[in-house]
Amino acid sequence: MNNNPYAWINESLATIHRADWYRCVQTIHGAPGATVVLSGQEVINFASNDYLGLAGDERLQIAAITAIQQFGTGSTGSRLISGHREIHRELEQGIASTKQTEEALVFSSGYLANLGTIAAIVGKRDLILSDEYNHSSLKKGAILSGATVVEYPHCNTAALLQNLQQYRKNHRRCLMITDSVFSMDGDLCPLPQLLDLAEEFSCMLLLDEAHATGVMGDTGAGCVEHFGCTGRELIQIGTLSKALGSLGGYVAGSSSLIDFLRNRAPSWIYTTALSPADTAAALAAVKIVREEPERRSQLWQNVNYLKQLITENLPNLKLLPTESPILCFQLSNAAAALTAGKHLRESGIFAPAIRPPTVSTSRIRISVMATHELGHIQKLVEVIKSIEELDHKV
Ligand SMILES: *Cc1c(COP(=O)(O)O)cnc(C)c1O
Repeated sequence: MNNNPYAWINESLATIHRADWYRCVQTIHGAPGATVVLSGQEVINFASNDYLGLAGDERLQIAAITAIQQFGTGSTGSRLISGHREIHRELEQGIASTKQTEEALVFSSGYLANLGTIAAIVGKRDLILSDEYNHSSLKKGAILSGATVVEYPHCNTAALLQNLQQYRKNHRRCLMITDSVFSMDGDLCPLPQLLDLAEEFSCMLLLDEAHATGVMGDTGAGCVEHFGCTGRELIQIGTLSKALGSLGGYVAGSSSLIDFLRNRAPSWIYTTALSPADTAAALAAVKIVREEPERRSQLWQNVNYLKQLITENLPNLKLLPTESPILCFQLSNAAAALTAGKHLRESGIFAPAIRPPTVSTSRIRISVMATHELGHIQKLVEVIKSIEELDHKV
């Protein structure tokens, strides 16, 4: 046996390269915002989840610095041992109040909130019904739980109904899991229909509001508010790291759910509590989302302006259906998406190519921010137009 047991790693990397699936990091210098310096070049930023421009907001910075001065940099232990601080409770109350749920629980990331919650509430005897376009954290949480997982075609409630009729009776508990705003497409799940089906078949519904919190609904509470479903029983998950400009995740729901998770969610129990700085920054953001609805209005004005310019100037663009600040246009394959992304970048626009295996079809993904100026959006449309013209010449 003289085979190097690690040789497969380089072979696998070579396969990834051959498929045009290879990825690596790129450095952003300085502060986040509507424009950023990317590997030394100033670009307009359409690649960020910082929808309200809060990640660079001075008030969040001051909140974080003050919390560090008061509580130190580390929280020193898990929440149940020595990591719990008063600001965790304040943040959890703030989230529960925005979501209008009895309670909320913060995790160290949205990914961990999904893993821990799904694994805690269902097990081997149970059934999970999962939208095929769900975020990785929902899919991995489903696997971790040990439940039987059935994927249904994207947003297809007829297929979901069929699955429920076929499989529900063979299982103890049933959990439906879905993104509310689909992160790589920008469309919304049919929440009212999902809630009705959940009720009819005695299923729990777990809704991932990662891209919706701070963005959707009159008060920024998310898609539950957007669809007028506030107060209906379900499990809401989200992140503190997108519109809220910090780091961390949360679950919002009934007091008994949250109490159960504090006793049974391994990714909350066996990990260090969210740091004082992240907690305080998120708390400041929750207050700003509540007190400054004009940020959300500005975001939607920008989204509508971009859609209008696309309709007027880019009639042939293959835009995916969207009802969020995420807009994607499709390209024929991974290489074409990479070429388009590179051309955008050279023209001063940062909008990433999203390829398999993240999504089934290659695309350029644009996310709009409240802090984009009209000129930024005009420039984006001009550059996309020049890509289209380039395509026609080939
Ligand atoms: C970003 C995202 C997450 C993960 O949240 P983090 O806080 O970044 O770990 C979970 N679900 C969805 C749908 C997301 O888009």
